[in-house]
Amino acid sequence: MVAAIAASRAGAEVRLFEKGERVGRKLLATGNGRCNLTNIDLDPAHFHGCVPTFPRSILARHDSAWTLRLFEDLGITPVVEERGRVFPRSGQASSVLDVLRWRMEELGVQVLCGATVQAVERTAAGFRVVADPVPPAGAGGTVDRVVLATGGRAAPGLGADGSGYLLARSLGHRILEPFPALAPLRLSSPWLRQLQGTRFDGAVEVLCRGGVVAQSQGEVLFTDHGASGPAVLDVCRAAGECLQAGDTVHLNVRLVADLEPDVLRQEVARRFEHLPQRPVSAVLVGFLNKRLIPAVLRESGVTDLEQPAGSVAAAVRGRIAETLRSWSFEVIGTGPWAGAQVTAGGVDVADVDPDTLQSRLVRGLFLAGEVLDVDGDCGGFNLQWAWASGHVAGENAARGA
Ligand SMILES: Cc1cc2nc3c(=O)[nH]c(=O)nc-3n(C[C@H](O)[C@H](O)[C@H](O)COP(=O)(O)OP(=O)(O)OC[C@H]3O[C@@H](n4cnc5c(N)ncnc54)[C@H](O)[C@@H]3O)c2cc1C
Repeated sequence: MVAAIAASRAGAEVRLFEKGERVGRKLLATGNGRCNLTNIDLDPAHFHGCVPTFPRSILARHDSAWTLRLFEDLGITPVVEERGRVFPRSGQASSVLDVLRWRMEELGVQVLCGATVQAVERTAAGFRVVADPVPPAGAGGTVDRVVLATGGRAAPGLGADGSGYLLARSLGHRILEPFPALAPLRLSSPWLRQLQGTRFDGAVEVLCRGGVVAQSQGEVLFTDHGASGPAVLDVCRAAGECLQAGDTVHLNVRLVADLEPDVLRQEVARRFEHLPQRPVSAVLVGFLNKRLIPAVLRESGVTDLEQPAGSVAAAVRGRIAETLRSWSFEVIGTGPWAGAQVTAGGVDVADVDPDTLQSRLVRGLFLAGEVLDVDGDCGGFNLQWAWASGHVAGENAARGA
């Protein structure tokens, strides 16, 4: 939509093909329905891809101040919240979609919904866009230039399902194997069935090649297949990258992240000494979410959950404290795609001009947004990239490069 607006403003006659019944369906789901539209801290470290420097020149020219001006001009009053995240004052993602749709209407962008692009073919004069169903007469697919802004594979139920990669590949572009980022982690553990549905404030770290490659603090949620929640989404990309490289990956979960190891050991020991008659399964009640306790005890070597706490050996108590401090799970994957917010990987940016976003392989083809091998952290960075790259691609497509 931003590409269409920029191209139209630059004087082009614009036709937007959208496979869904409406444009911008994914936008409605962003920021838990509030649309975290950018972040005022656009440190380059928040953006990833095989060429991490690729988005820098565009983001330097189209930073968060540019995004705020763009949306203020459209009618959105931005509000900055904690960690620099920006939302519309309305608190409604739908208002962001409304103003984009209205501006396209004002500019005369021809929006063709329910039109899935099946092929983009190079012709002598430009491109032929083959859509299914075939758009009505007068909305033909012969165009001078194309902006491919088909998104990635994350959350396919909201539109983008990876079909853009096929279009890019058919035009000669290489695709770096996409994997879900900002997604749950799939873990191998016998305890998941017991743990699923349990939420807690903790911390996680990803271990790979003998070291910690990512860590985060915040809410963690155990699911039937692994772990999710904001802290897990934060470290998902690093885990996915290690898995892509064929490495063994572990997730250390800190069920108790706010106590120093010594203090935690003392607290566990104190509880066992204070309540020696209670069954061991009851000793941590009031300290730890009850649903976590049986699995923590078994993981630490307790076989009889009804035995009196006083009979549990000191070494086992030490292991319980250690499990609470750092419980290691093997990571076997990221995703599923349905639960992912963004795609890592995609069209190899080595074949795309970082200033204009024109393909180096096909003149007149421009690429923007998540379809490219650029992804950002959670916090407004992915939409920032979508707006900025969409604007650059649209404007340059209208100018003819
Ligand atoms: C649940 C969720 C919450 C998110 N929250 C945030 C957030 O708060 N802040 C943030 O910065 N990022 C967020 N993101 C990520 C962000 O939404 C995406 O990175 C961004 O929308 C990518 O923009 P895009 O235009 O490249 O692709 P998309 O927004 O995916 O749009 C691509 C469009 O192309 C259409 N399309 C695809 N293939 C075809 C085809 N062959 N023919 C015709 N049409 C086609 C799709 O239907 C879709 O409408 C969230 C993502 C999800 C899933």
